[in-house]
Amino acid sequence: MDLKSFAGNDNTIYELEQVMKSGAFPHAVIIDGAKGTGKKTLANILAQYLVCVSDGGKPCGHCSGCIKAAHKTHPDINITDGNVQGVLAVDNIRKIRSDAYIMPNEAPVKVYLILDCDKMLAASQNALLKILEEPPKNVVFIITATSANMLLQTVRSRSRIYTLYPPPVEISAGYIESAYPQLNKEEILSALKVTDGNIGKALQNIQSGNEEAKMLADQILAAVTEGREYDMLLLTSRLSSSRDFAAGVLDFLLEDAGECIKASVGIETHLDAARKTAEKLSQKRIYRLADDIEKARNILKSNVNLNFFGTWLCAVLKEK
Ligand SMILES: [Zn+2]
Repeated sequence: MDLKSFAGNDNTIYELEQVMKSGAFPHAVIIDGAKGTGKKTLANILAQYLVCVSDGGKPCGHCSGCIKAAHKTHPDINITDGNVQGVLAVDNIRKIRSDAYIMPNEAPVKVYLILDCDKMLAASQNALLKILEEPPKNVVFIITATSANMLLQTVRSRSRIYTLYPPPVEISAGYIESAYPQLNKEEILSALKVTDGNIGKALQNIQSGNEEAKMLADQILAAVTEGREYDMLLLTSRLSSSRDFAAGVLDFLLEDAGECIKASVGIETHLDAARKTAEKLSQKRIYRLADDIEKARNILKSNVNLNFFGTWLCAVLKEK
């Protein structure tokens, strides 16, 4: 990935491109912005630029520097992540300080990514400040935080600050679509609407929504298989929470039903629950189950009242 493919933030990206071209990259950069705006992604792109050893356009994407950077194995890119380590302690910074005075191994510069500095102790920041005041040659610090104001004024004044904002929804949607082709456009747009275009947060919501939907689909299938009618009613009532969620559950249920059909005709399936269903229910019943779920998906697309939808689906699934 390079700066051109970064979503939105055109002015900041243009400014960074100019800095890169000039060859005078600042020795300390702070990237700030809300969670999910791409701070870590941008930090990694900049690190790759800095260690690229190509003579042409950087990052070239195929020199040894670029490849190692992309695989996070470059010896001259050092990552300290506050999110992983909790609070960034003075010791973390001291380690960086003693390492920073050693010449780079193979890249023109050594890059220190100090990520998620929101909870960086004042003592650690003062230790960092000592390096920023007299920076060793060939060293670049890239610091990320949700707000640069979390850092001491003395640290800020020795760094160049770049702030990231969520891009407009259409740009965010295009970015997610190209990076995650398996997601459908409606799902992407509705997740972005909730997060005001914040890509990271939207992806997180899609993922957690998907996990919840998959789990509910599996529970419904198990309840149908075992004939637990009261559970079926409780589980299907959860579909009333939102149309997107209900659609997600039905998609997973349809996939599950497909696996049940496979199992019932003796084709290998990866889904243990499907084998169980095929043992307990007749082939005819399984085919009808798949038909009913397909029907339910179509009904959901019409303007059906969500509160009744769960009850209706439960009644359909109960039929033996
Ligand atoms: Zn390169």
